[in-house]
Amino acid sequence: MKRLKVGVVELLAHSVTTPFLRRRVIAPETASVMPQAVAVWAEELGCEVHYAVWTAEEDLRRLLPDGLDLVFISAFTRASFVAYALSRHLRSGGAVTVLGGPHAQSFAEHARDYFDYICQTTDRALIADLLQAPERQERGLVLCADEGPSSLPGVAQRARFIDHCLQKGTRVLRLVPMLGSLGCPYTCSFCVDAPVRWRGLPVDPIIEDLRHIERRWGEDTLVGWHDPNFGVRFDEYLGAIEDSGTHLVHCAHMSLSLMSAQNARRLGRARFGLLAPGVESWFDFSDKSGRARVVGEAKVLHVAETLNVIQAEVQHIQTNMIVGLDTDQGELPWELTQRLAELSPGIYPTYFLATNFYNAPLSRELHASGRTMAMPFSLLDTNCFGNVRPLHYSPVELYDRLIELYAFAYSWKAVLRRTRVTPGGWGKLVNFGRSVDEGRGFIAFHRSLRARLESDRELRAFYEGERVAPPTSFMDEVKAQLGPYQELLPAELLSPERYAESFRAAAEAAVRTIRAPAAGSVPKERAAAS
Ligand code: SF4
Repeated sequence: MKRLKVGVVELLAHSVTTPFLRRRVIAPETASVMPQAVAVWAEELGCEVHYAVWTAEEDLRRLLPDGLDLVFISAFTRASFVAYALSRHLRSGGAVTVLGGPHAQSFAEHARDYFDYICQTTDRALIADLLQAPERQERGLVLCADEGPSSLPGVAQRARFIDHCLQKGTRVLRLVPMLGSLGCPYTCSFCVDAPVRWRGLPVDPIIEDLRHIERRWGEDTLVGWHDPNFGVRFDEYLGAIEDSGTHLVHCAHMSLSLMSAQNARRLGRARFGLLAPGVESWFDFSDKSGRARVVGEAKVLHVAETLNVIQAEVQHIQTNMIVGLDTDQGELPWELTQRLAELSPGIYPTYFLATNFYNAPLSRELHASGRTMAMPFSLLDTNCFGNVRPLHYSPVELYDRLIELYAFAYSWKAVLRRTRVTPGGWGKLVNFGRSVDEGRGFIAFHRSLRARLESDRELRAFYEGERVAPPTSFMDEVKAQLGPYQELLPAELLSPERYAESFRAAAEAAVRTIRAPAAGSVPKERAAAS
């Protein structure tokens, strides 16, 4: 049998205009585990494998050698147009292409016109089947395993792919992606991970993985836990980190419900340097904060107290809030969000705009309400645009309030106070750098969008629901993002009306397959630990 030549690409950027710092320093540290796992499986199955990540530094057309039989491309929705362009280039050279990653989970129907296969939930058996006889398809076939993998290739097997990413970065900042579990036991209706049943991957291999990381890349290497909700079985995972005896620095998303004073001390001793708990809303999603019935001001006080306890041990804490949810109305949610910034001044707050990725339990409801906009995929950044018209705020009011919130949380006074109260040099550096680069950057970004609501009639009509197609100015931004690769993007995706029509068809197909939350499987140990 012919030995297949297989490419595996992960797109870590979405635009050729990606700023230097992001291209050279941040992007190489954001690679995921699954594309590396697919590369390992393909090698084990006898293929010749070429792995590459795209950080916007490289020429997309020369990222991989010529003559590949099959190429897997992993992309977030924001990078999907780059993925479509790359797929078109590769197919013109004879390769069969496969889309994976978050865009495949969310918009499989849309991608079917541009790839031969779309891999949603993926495991080794699915990859083995696909590699048997990959073929060009008229419309892409959507493949989906029943559940995700029960185990993943270890760090030693992924090492050369991790090296590839780290060599593109600064070498000072070195982050190795890890995955300890899949899915989440909570049921937040906006979340794409809520429908995925929580499953812990084997814990014992983690110990050797961590030791391997330290031997190969040195002490102080960052370990990025990509679990949607790390440490659900807190004692087991922290126990594995402690047993490894390593001196690494860990970063993770974790529920506030896990952040008791006792757990905070363990996290500090285990050298967790960055935690990102989701607060989301003052009036909803409270079970994962550890007090299901506490809302409004009482929730602010509880969250602030918890965050301040944890920040005494973990230097950089990022909180995630969603603005403009249907449960939000009037001034109160904004005032409460500002209050948290006052009560926990060392925390780095991020504010997300409600976004419908057509893959969460809430997506069907949002679709039925007609409030999901056909935002071009490559602009679908939850910090900047979102794609859901709020129920209780006009676009002008939303942006006015958002600007006020950012201006409060990222005033120079707040930035300097945040830096001063953050414990530890590393935490101070990260908090100051992110506050100036990202936080203050968002003030300028949202002010500019607010100004365009006055000056760009198409944009205003789009946001107010009087226009279905995205404004011409948004399509111009898409073209600028693609730069020399726009000629590879199918023309229909650059036409506002045709893009809107393709989005509508994809959305209608997606709502038919949205799954309910995989509720009720919070492991007992978590309840005991919180
Ligand atoms: S806690 Fe909620 S938002 Fe976080 S991963 Fe789980 S379901 Fe998603």
